[in-house]
Amino acid sequence: MSFKNLGLSDALLKAISEKGYDTPTPIQQKAIPKILEGKDVLASAQTGTGKTAGFTLPMLQKLSNAKTLHKRPVRALVLTPTRELAAQVLEDVRTYSKFVDIRSTVIFGGVNANPQIRTLRQGVDILVATPGRLLDLHGQGVFSLNNVEFLVLDEADRMLDMGFARDINKILALLPKKRQNLLFSATFSKEIKKLANSFLYQPVMVEATPENTTAEKVDQLIYKTDKSKKTDLVIKLISEDDWQQVLIFTRTKHGANRLAKKLEKAKISSAAIHGNKSQGARTKALANFKSGKVRVLVATDIAARGLDIPLLPHVINYELPNVPEDYVHRIGRTGRAGASGEAISIVSVDEFEYVRGIEKLLGEKLDQKTIPGFEVTETLKEVEEKKAANKAANQRGGRNSRTKKPTASGSRNRRNSRRRKN
Ligand code: AMP
Repeated sequence: MSFKNLGLSDALLKAISEKGYDTPTPIQQKAIPKILEGKDVLASAQTGTGKTAGFTLPMLQKLSNAKTLHKRPVRALVLTPTRELAAQVLEDVRTYSKFVDIRSTVIFGGVNANPQIRTLRQGVDILVATPGRLLDLHGQGVFSLNNVEFLVLDEADRMLDMGFARDINKILALLPKKRQNLLFSATFSKEIKKLANSFLYQPVMVEATPENTTAEKVDQLIYKTDKSKKTDLVIKLISEDDWQQVLIFTRTKHGANRLAKKLEKAKISSAAIHGNKSQGARTKALANFKSGKVRVLVATDIAARGLDIPLLPHVINYELPNVPEDYVHRIGRTGRAGASGEAISIVSVDEFEYVRGIEKLLGEKLDQKTIPGFEVTETLKEVEEKKAANKAANQRGGRNSRTKKPTASGSRNRRNSRRRKN
């Protein structure tokens, strides 16, 4: 199967060949013809499957076949949960639209809106956006959504996780009734199905390779140890084998910062990436990691969504996620584009139950190893007691520092901080 068989135009084929792709990925093979036919599509695909080209290429073809409208109102809207993913989608759109007359831009929060407003006023055919900034600028009358023919919800599951359900509904209400809709999601919870039913019209279901086949290219290994020994074990693994590009997942923003600092102290150059970092800091950290200036990137799940880091050799789970699907997402960061990779999980006694959940989802037992000096010595009871003591201490600290009265903006701030969670 080649891209030519999919019915794409010469201009798009040229861009694809310049990018160096010769074979469409399974999701591209399935989704592109359906989207070209004009069907609504419900796609099960995660980052790393080639999903972005899967929706961008047919969208570009349809938009460039139709007559360009004089003032270039927005004709395609792509919604993403995070700024990073939005920026990456735009980069892909620009790459594939190199030889067609299509203008595109991206808007997201956390940066000055004025340059975004100026670009929007000049007219764009494709707008990639995160929901909050889109509603904000639309509310200011900067652009119209009356001509939208295409709507793409990318990583819809993550959008719901981040609390965007209401914003999505508000945006849907602003769009013309007649349009083509595409929904991409890695998982299909009840909420996603409900959302899909609410706006997709007789959708065609397309599925990338089942989620757990991603894991087949990845060597997975579990090191059991105590919580207090995790950092030293990570340092040992990275230094002894001289790993050069390592993505480490933590469960919390503070955990990410703490670990990055400790690695720096151990002379392993590191950067943390999470929702509390400014857009500039995140972009810089990612660029430094990609270029090899920084050896380790420590990330939370949400911050890592949509990061396009090809050929990543090592992923470490410093803590396991409590949702098994998130484990599959995380390890999907390695062994991409046919290359093999290694995913290591450092697991303490309180996380053993998560291992069982992951093994159930994958349908296989994961190899486990212990390194001398790093054996598990803590019991679950001891760990739980420590956690309870820490929680109580934090609550005491929190109560003492909470002197401000609640304000009207409090609920808005709380909502925003929920969105930025991790
Ligand atoms: P995505 O799932 O859209 O984030 O894409 C994952 C990675 O695969 C990106 O680096 C793409 O540039 C790359 N990619 C997309 N389509 C293809 C293809 N047909 N052949 C090789 N690489 C591809």
